Amino acid sequence: MSASPGRLTVLAGPTAVGKGTVASYVRERHPGIWISVSATTRPPRPGEVDGRHYHFVSDAEFDEMVARDELLEWAVVHRSARYGTPRRPVEEVLATGRPALLEIDLQGARQVRARMPDALFVFLKPPSWEELVRRLVGRGTEGPQERARRLDTAREELAAEPEFDATVVNTRVPVAAAELVALMTGAQEPTPRHSP
Ligand code: 5GP
Repeated sequence: MSASPGRLTVLAGPTAVGKGTVASYVRERHPGIWISVSATTRPPRPGEVDGRHYHFVSDAEFDEMVARDELLEWAVVHRSARYGTPRRPVEEVLATGRPALLEIDLQGARQVRARMPDALFVFLKPPSWEELVRRLVGRGTEGPQERARRLDTAREELAAEPEFDATVVNTRVPVAAAELVALMTGAQEPTPRHSP
């Protein structure tokens, strides 16, 4: 089963695996694919632009979005900030037949699966655990305490791979992005999982 046009694809995977980098690569080279902009209560990092990387909102604004049921899914990520997918833009894009991509965490992916079981769920995996640790340390955006917290989350998230329709190994970003786009456009069938 591959993604037909206008279908939703959810890209999830452990922290620091490069989900954001793969999604940015797809955004730049595949303008036909729409990528959701999440709302978050975390502050912007240097270089991040409001409305492009995230909608940076206050706790009160996020509360309102939840109360008005404006989010398709939302979660507290890394036990710190809240992140969520605004529902209306996703619905509008899917109605036009354009393929849509969500780059979200595992808790969010599970919520989308419950609400939209026909979506395609793609797991982005690191080539190895050592490489994941190296990427998290190398990124240098988190302090030691936050890094340890994110590695704990990553260990749990890696175990969720069998819940997904397909796995893409992120050894090189252009290759991983090409595989993701092939899955989204139906050029590549997801690897069948063994039945029980
Ligand atoms: P960062 O703070 O590094 O940009 O993102 C931290 C984590 O939040 C990443 O794992 C990313 O996938 C996840 N994330 C980003 N947007 C959303 C969202 O809308 N919903 C959920 N559930 N997770 C998100």
